[in-house]
Amino acid sequence: MKRKIQTLIILLFSSFPLSFASAASCNDEGVWLQVLGSGGPEIDDGRASSGYLVWQDGKARVLVDLGSGSLARFEQSGASLNDLDVILLTHLHADHSNDLPALIKSSFFTRRDRDLSLYGPTGNKLMPSVTGFVQNLLGQDGAFRYLNDFLDGSKPYRLLPSDIDVSLKEITRVSKNDGFQVSAIPVNHGPIPAIAWRIDIDGKSVVFSGDMSNKKASLWRLAKQADILVAHHAIAEKANPVARNLHMPPSEIGRIAAKASVKQLVLSHRMKRTFGKEDETLSIIRKKYSGPVKFADDLQCFNLND
Ligand SMILES: [Zn+2]
Repeated sequence: MKRKIQTLIILLFSSFPLSFASAASCNDEGVWLQVLGSGGPEIDDGRASSGYLVWQDGKARVLVDLGSGSLARFEQSGASLNDLDVILLTHLHADHSNDLPALIKSSFFTRRDRDLSLYGPTGNKLMPSVTGFVQNLLGQDGAFRYLNDFLDGSKPYRLLPSDIDVSLKEITRVSKNDGFQVSAIPVNHGPIPAIAWRIDIDGKSVVFSGDMSNKKASLWRLAKQADILVAHHAIAEKANPVARNLHMPPSEIGRIAAKASVKQLVLSHRMKRTFGKEDETLSIIRKKYSGPVKFADDLQCFNLND
């Protein structure tokens, strides 16, 4: 009987991480990075797809990517739609963008009354631009046209999408918004238009690579001296050429982190092809970069105030 009770207690507590996660907000003071989704598109890895928050003094101000499952993590993080200043999408693969309409739908049940900016890449034959994407979803002929009021001004706030030109070679300063600066640079993600983002806030900086190979060799310029570089670690070193055209291997991540002299490296967008190879990944990165390296998990908080 005693053993049965012990087993029950273990079972109860082993099912608790999600419940505990409901209290997984970052500290109330200063600037924090929170990982909402540390996984890729796989749905059998126990991780949400790509999503991140930048917190300042207890408010989640910047949301980067909104892949499947990351909205549930947003809820667990204690973040509020009312506090968000901007949403940044690195690219429009479903595992980076498809919780967006659900976030807008949630507006029926919030008191947000100021416009919400959304930035993402321009399009090509394979992908719409982010403004086209929003029209495809929420426009008058969109799949979720019942949410069109959030574009035309008849609701208390509008979603305001803008495209960042992926043909640009230089860093684009996107907005200087109430104490923080958002900057962008195009990166190579095979045939998919993609943007890396930097947020400078309260003297701290965090950079998001998004999915990318390093064929444009552009990220290190955006990431110069950043407090944290979140690099997408979707492939192991011995990946095939198709995967290498889409993603950067650990050696490339280490090279970028070193060249940019980032203070800390966070590896996210983790996938089954990299799990179990953490020691190998680390030793390859260590050949180039000697700073702290962390493997991200959902809802993990990183302190930028040290
Ligand atoms: Zn992608």
